[in-house]
Amino acid sequence: MVPLTIHQARWLVPVSEPILENGAVVVAGPRIVAVGPASRLRRHYQGKCIDHGDGAILPALVNAHVHLEFSALRGRIPRQAALGHWLSAAMAEFAQLSAAEIHHGVQEGLAELWRYGTILVGEVSNTGLSLPGLLNSGLGFHYFYECLGFDRLGSGPLEADFPIFASPEARARDNFSAAAHAPYSVSPALFGRIFDWNRRYRRRTTVHLAESRQEVEFLRQGNGFFQHLLQQRGRWPADYQPPQCSPVVYLDRLGGLGPQTLAVHAIWLDAADRELLARRLSWAVLCPRSNLFTGAGFPRLSELYRAGVRLALGTDSLASNDDLNMFNEIMTLQQQYPDFAPDKLLALATCQGALALGRGHDLGSLGPGKLAALLFIPVASDRHFWPDLLAAGAAGKISWVTAPGVES
Ligand SMILES: [Zn+2]
Repeated sequence: MVPLTIHQARWLVPVSEPILENGAVVVAGPRIVAVGPASRLRRHYQGKCIDHGDGAILPALVNAHVHLEFSALRGRIPRQAALGHWLSAAMAEFAQLSAAEIHHGVQEGLAELWRYGTILVGEVSNTGLSLPGLLNSGLGFHYFYECLGFDRLGSGPLEADFPIFASPEARARDNFSAAAHAPYSVSPALFGRIFDWNRRYRRRTTVHLAESRQEVEFLRQGNGFFQHLLQQRGRWPADYQPPQCSPVVYLDRLGGLGPQTLAVHAIWLDAADRELLARRLSWAVLCPRSNLFTGAGFPRLSELYRAGVRLALGTDSLASNDDLNMFNEIMTLQQQYPDFAPDKLLALATCQGALALGRGHDLGSLGPGKLAALLFIPVASDRHFWPDLLAAGAAGKISWVTAPGVES
């Protein structure tokens, strides 16, 4: 028999169930056996009992959108007033990095994810350089290998241009997908090839979508900042015809909207776009601090929520954020939407993120059979539970109660 341990605290936040005062979690090996009132569980289960005291036990966090390979760019790119300027600066700085600097940044990013209580990430990479670090990290992850190519109009299999998709590892791993960077950097034909590969191997996908005004303008009129950028880089097809629709409608026309699609940012949407995302059961992954950093705008949280769009949360990379602490993401949303319930905000960074990344069955909430990825955060006052919890999390006062290695 695996020995049982009972972890109790003044507060238990299962996320999937109401908060319990004096609650406990019974853990055997890497899994949760039971969740409930501490007094009842201590009567039912024999095992070592650890009382963590004044504070909350909650599930470890899920960061549904990050680019670990950009971690070495932290502090190198100033805040911008428009996304295009940020993109140009980030591309120029990234080109200066050596492979050793990128690897070092990945390790620092992974250490920071652990420090801030993260157990699962949606990693977006266009080099593959972050994969070895993630495999050795003990973190759960979904690896989105991101393709770019606005002038790649080939119609063959994706592997012809991106050899990583021919590797046995890519084909065998359920947590490896093909991803598209954005509508202004991926041709319609390349979108189709990406979706075909994912359909063949039954994988989810992700794309940066409706992030900036310039993207909307580009799809409607075929001009503006992104036309200039593509021309500058010698990638502008002279016969380009804009689809003359919104980014969301465009992705839907390409066959790219569905329950397995994570649309990242989703800022510049109208009511019909929100309704369409909700109807397709697609995910919108919000990265509010990154949006403020790059000057892209700010997600309309309440309207997305009211429309029934499935929502998750991410930090994006350290090239457009100060840290990888998901509580700071929550706090930023709360400052803009003070009436939005804090338990729903925490759900975006836990159970919703786990569902978006296909790990809802074992991560993101506390319940029997789930992995025992448990955090403890001190909460001194009983009257201001949520403000105290979120402030302590944002201040990094996060410790691991139990941290099972997650098989990915
Ligand atoms: Zn991103």
